[in-house]
Amino acid sequence: MNALNRKLASIYLRGNCSTVERREESEVILNLLKFLQTQNTSLLTGPEIGLFKRAAIIRMPGFSIDLINPKIVTVKNEIVSINESCASFPKEEINCLRGNEITFQNGLDKELITLCGLEAVLVQHAIDHLNGVVMFDRSIKLELIEKGNVIHYL
Ligand SMILES: [Zn+2]
Repeated sequence: MNALNRKLASIYLRGNCSTVERREESEVILNLLKFLQTQNTSLLTGPEIGLFKRAAIIRMPGFSIDLINPKIVTVKNEIVSINESCASFPKEEINCLRGNEITFQNGLDKELITLCGLEAVLVQHAIDHLNGVVMFDRSIKLELIEKGNVIHYL
């Protein structure tokens, strides 16, 4: 992806996402699942398919979650996510500053969930999209980080 395309994609992804209402929840998730099957990715968010709703899905072996109106409550322990990638920026991989442990509200019933490691990084990536933030906003030069605080993003 060249610099211009990256810039255009970034601008497109800055749109505001509205709250998912109960009556539209299943339709939104179904749309995301349909698109996910056509993409080579394990994480897809509403704005990436032109659906500006606060919804995302993650489908990984051993970790699967539907994010509906997710909201970060706490972020602990900074780490670097190595070679983070994004369905919207094919072939790009960058190192991002992330939290190693997060607690967030999820779903229409606002369930509190705590995750750490790769799962926490994936959810942060997804929630960022819903707030118009893309991975390039979190990029960091690895040389600036002490050894040991890294995690590999798949
Ligand atoms: Zn992404």
